[in-house]
Amino acid sequence: MERQGFSTRVIHTKYAKKDVHNALQMPIYSNAAFEFDTAEQMEDAFLGRSPDHAYSRISNPTVENFEQRIRSITGALGVTAVSSGMAAISNVFFTIAKSGDNIVTSRYLFGNTYSFLTSTLQAFGVETKFCDLTNSKEVANAIDEKTIAIFFETVTNPQLEIADIASLSKVAKEQGVLLIADSTLTPPNIFVASKFGVDIEIISSTKMITGGATSMGGLVLDYGQFDWSKFTKLSDLAQRFGPYTFNAKLRKEIFRNLGACLSPYHAYLQSLGLETLSLRFDKAASNTLLLAEYLQTEAKIAKVNYPGLKTSRFYEVGKSQFGNYPGAILTFNFNRREECFEFLNKLKLISRASNIYDNRSLIIHPASTIFGDYSPEKRTEMGVSDTLIRLSVGIEDFEDLKNDIHSALI
Ligand SMILES: *Cc1c(COP(=O)(O)O)cnc(C)c1O
Repeated sequence: MERQGFSTRVIHTKYAKKDVHNALQMPIYSNAAFEFDTAEQMEDAFLGRSPDHAYSRISNPTVENFEQRIRSITGALGVTAVSSGMAAISNVFFTIAKSGDNIVTSRYLFGNTYSFLTSTLQAFGVETKFCDLTNSKEVANAIDEKTIAIFFETVTNPQLEIADIASLSKVAKEQGVLLIADSTLTPPNIFVASKFGVDIEIISSTKMITGGATSMGGLVLDYGQFDWSKFTKLSDLAQRFGPYTFNAKLRKEIFRNLGACLSPYHAYLQSLGLETLSLRFDKAASNTLLLAEYLQTEAKIAKVNYPGLKTSRFYEVGKSQFGNYPGAILTFNFNRREECFEFLNKLKLISRASNIYDNRSLIIHPASTIFGDYSPEKRTEMGVSDTLIRLSVGIEDFEDLKNDIHSALI
């Protein structure tokens, strides 16, 4: 049989066990523990010799079904669903890092990821080295004998910078370090991480996957392509687990000990969201391109940034990695900060809110909110100007979004 398409695979992923009532949609198993008929079966489950569930912090049928759907659309070897995108990030780094190691990344990072790396991990003796990830020479130079990974976001937020992933992967392979991607802005219907040599992928499923910002969730995907026998912290485990080494360390230790399991209710909501992901993304992304083109015609707007615009510096690299629509977020600049506030206050339809990839369009002035605690110098370093507005475009009708913006500009 030919390989099925994205939505077909999401919708028709088989249950691990047939539902006793033949429910067509995976029910919510909201329970902590599972009973065993015999002590032998209990032993098998605890020792991982059977796929039976024992305790929901470790595995749960509703969560497992969500993980299996993600596996079937991405081809990942291991998928672990966790309680938020940040839980996915912390679980990954606690799995691979030890004191003395360092991570090479960019300053253009999701705010809490930046804080996690430079404060939380730093306190455990793990350093972060920043460089320009769009310059592979700089990346190669930043790597030293203590580097364990290159970490990048597929489209950075709010700078909307796109690195060439194949060149990052080449550097990572030459130097024997992991390539880790946060692909939250480019969901799995447009970005196939395994094609670009990504070893571990992180997604905040709170965003496009939920289908309307209904719940928090995160995903860790491991593609099983890395040779763990050469990775100091996990080389012993590698003798036993081979390509499953990362997954074994994560599932059998870190994930259990940190306790950031996904709630079955949220797994249910996110499984539903996944079924319509492709439809919703297409609508939001085509709205984004139309709005970016329209915004360029408005005299009060100084600059429009969307990597799907042919004039963008990242147009070609974006197209080759994500197709015609590199995400559904655009930014634009006014000439003065006051104009940003005036404009935001006049909007009637678009919501003034944080978050991205809701069904509704969300707008924010990053410098005074998400980046408000940083000094102006630090914000400049992070590529966040005082005149910048970020718009996460929803699935509303384009004309209505355009009219709302136009009215607020008069
Ligand atoms: C939102 C987000 C996160 C964190 O996800 P949460 O689910 O809010 O914890 C991480 N990375 C990126 C790129 C994000 O947009």
